[in-house]
Amino acid sequence: MSETKEFQASPEAKGKAKQLRIFAMLAWVLAMAGQVFAILKLISDETLIWLIVAIVVILILAITGSTLWKKANRLDPASEKEPTRFFIQNQLGAIMGVLAFLPMVLMILSNKNISGKTKGIAGSIAAVAMVAAGITGADFNPPSVEKYTEEINQQNEAAKSLNIDSDNVYWSKAGNKYHAFDNCQYIKGKALSNGSIEESWEQKGISELCKVCKKKAAKSAIPSDVKELIETE
Ligand SMILES: [Zn+2]
Repeated sequence: MSETKEFQASPEAKGKAKQLRIFAMLAWVLAMAGQVFAILKLISDETLIWLIVAIVVILILAITGSTLWKKANRLDPASEKEPTRFFIQNQLGAIMGVLAFLPMVLMILSNKNISGKTKGIAGSIAAVAMVAAGITGADFNPPSVEKYTEEINQQNEAAKSLNIDSDNVYWSKAGNKYHAFDNCQYIKGKALSNGSIEESWEQKGISELCKVCKKKAAKSAIPSDVKELIETE
């Protein structure tokens, strides 16, 4: 079991990430369009209810976008070696979340044709939405090529200590764990992929050994120091 070379997402994972990023962009474009519409048409005392409805819709779009974006980053992470790109790629959801509301907040607060009450209600709802979109869009535990490489090495080490062949593990299409045994109850009868632990990461970003398989492996794996004792006696 050699030390893993630097993690690289598979072409399949990259393709899926690209697709997710396109949908994320689409959601953000719609959010921005909604904001422009709200600024142009809905900042008035008479349309306050519709302005609030628009804020909720924009918030849903912004959060949808950043959720898809973060999912894509987990399939195809950035490298910490390029700090600017790393920051922008991982925090784009927060940036877009704030941008989806900041102009609107400023336009509401600076509007001279609405009452103070409307200003207070619309302004505070939009500001809360901006903070919510910013926080949910931020990635507080951003994935990176380096982190993945390190974690794969840790997983390989752990597998080694359990006598699991790290080049021969199983995972199903829907699952998010890998399995040491293809007859594990969780994957019985499912279509399985088979390959190394590293490949399970490259294809799906799978990061964890199934608990049942872990127990089973721990039971059957006699620690090497105990084995030595048995052999020498
Ligand atoms: Zn299992």
